[in-house]
Amino acid sequence: MRYLEEFRDPALARRLLDEIHATVTRPWALMEVCGGQTHSIIRHGIDQLLPAEVELIHGPGCPVCVTPLEVIDKALAIASRPDVVFCSFGDMLRVPGTGRDLFRVKGAGGDVRVVYSPLDALEIARRTPGKQVVFFGIGFETTAPANAMAVHQARRLGVRNFSLLVSHVRVPPAIEAVMSSPRCRVQGFLAAGHVCSVMGVGEYPELAERFRVPIVVTGFEPLDILEGVRRTVRQLERGEHRVENAYPRAVRDEGNTAALRMLAEVFEVTDRAWRGIGTIPASGWRLAEDYREFDAEHRFAVTDVRTLELAACRSGEVLQGLLKPYECEAFGTACTPRTPLGATMVSSEGACAAYYLYRRLAHGPAATTGKEASSVG
Ligand code: SF4
Repeated sequence: MRYLEEFRDPALARRLLDEIHATVTRPWALMEVCGGQTHSIIRHGIDQLLPAEVELIHGPGCPVCVTPLEVIDKALAIASRPDVVFCSFGDMLRVPGTGRDLFRVKGAGGDVRVVYSPLDALEIARRTPGKQVVFFGIGFETTAPANAMAVHQARRLGVRNFSLLVSHVRVPPAIEAVMSSPRCRVQGFLAAGHVCSVMGVGEYPELAERFRVPIVVTGFEPLDILEGVRRTVRQLERGEHRVENAYPRAVRDEGNTAALRMLAEVFEVTDRAWRGIGTIPASGWRLAEDYREFDAEHRFAVTDVRTLELAACRSGEVLQGLLKPYECEAFGTACTPRTPLGATMVSSEGACAAYYLYRRLAHGPAATTGKEASSVG
């Protein structure tokens, strides 16, 4: 814990805030890409300490939130089969699909298990040869290498009853989509440090140049975020648009070369649908041809499942930074962590859950209870 405390030092935070206040001369809108950063910002009240001119817009970087309803429905269809053990990280179990979630499938007798690694699911497959074992492989560049490794190991060990339901997404095409929207207000990005620890920073200079936006690789602790904001505002005030690494203790320019090799071996780039946003070209990964036999969508013939998103949920606008969670009519009333209408209220990294957990008395109905909030994460 001591290591973390160093990045929460109030005196250092005050100095960074003073520098930001002294630098800013006009309004700027910055987007923090990652939901983990959003939670840190809301939890520590960082947005309320910044100068009024600096607005933080919450970005699409929550893996659970951007997984489309259609993929959840595919997971539900597969998990309901009597011959399947369906393995997932915990927060996907409460994400609502059409009419139910994975918890309900489990309650109805489905073999749905929470695991902490795709390699745990692979081990279950090895010990349960009579069943098909499926791992729900969602997320950004951070979780993709471990999932790639699990499939690589399955093929190497000849574990044919293992497969992956893949819904991996990539950050750079999402930045491109945000900046290409006619409603975009973003002028600078705090890039997601953990994504860059895998991928490096090489994908960002072209985006910074094309859209003339500073992109600052930023960590997750309060001082990391303040330093990311300080550097981004400094560039904006100087009229610069460069890529900077403000998270060097975790990010090397070249990324994690072993992880990159594994990704290139097992996955190939594909178009992906993002929840509430729609399809973004080349924004995801799927299993490469050599590994397609481990693709659960093909193995269980759910490639044709098509689902429309719920009209009541405005998470697509939240994920694009066009709407604050409390501006959604359902926030804290029809939609709470106990009765989520959208993934941004379920996920521990979701912006709606962050506002419900830390700001509901300011923005939501006062009648909401702390007990409900504690069910998140
Ligand atoms: S508050 Fe609920 S319904 Fe509204 S955008 Fe967030 S998740 Fe969707």
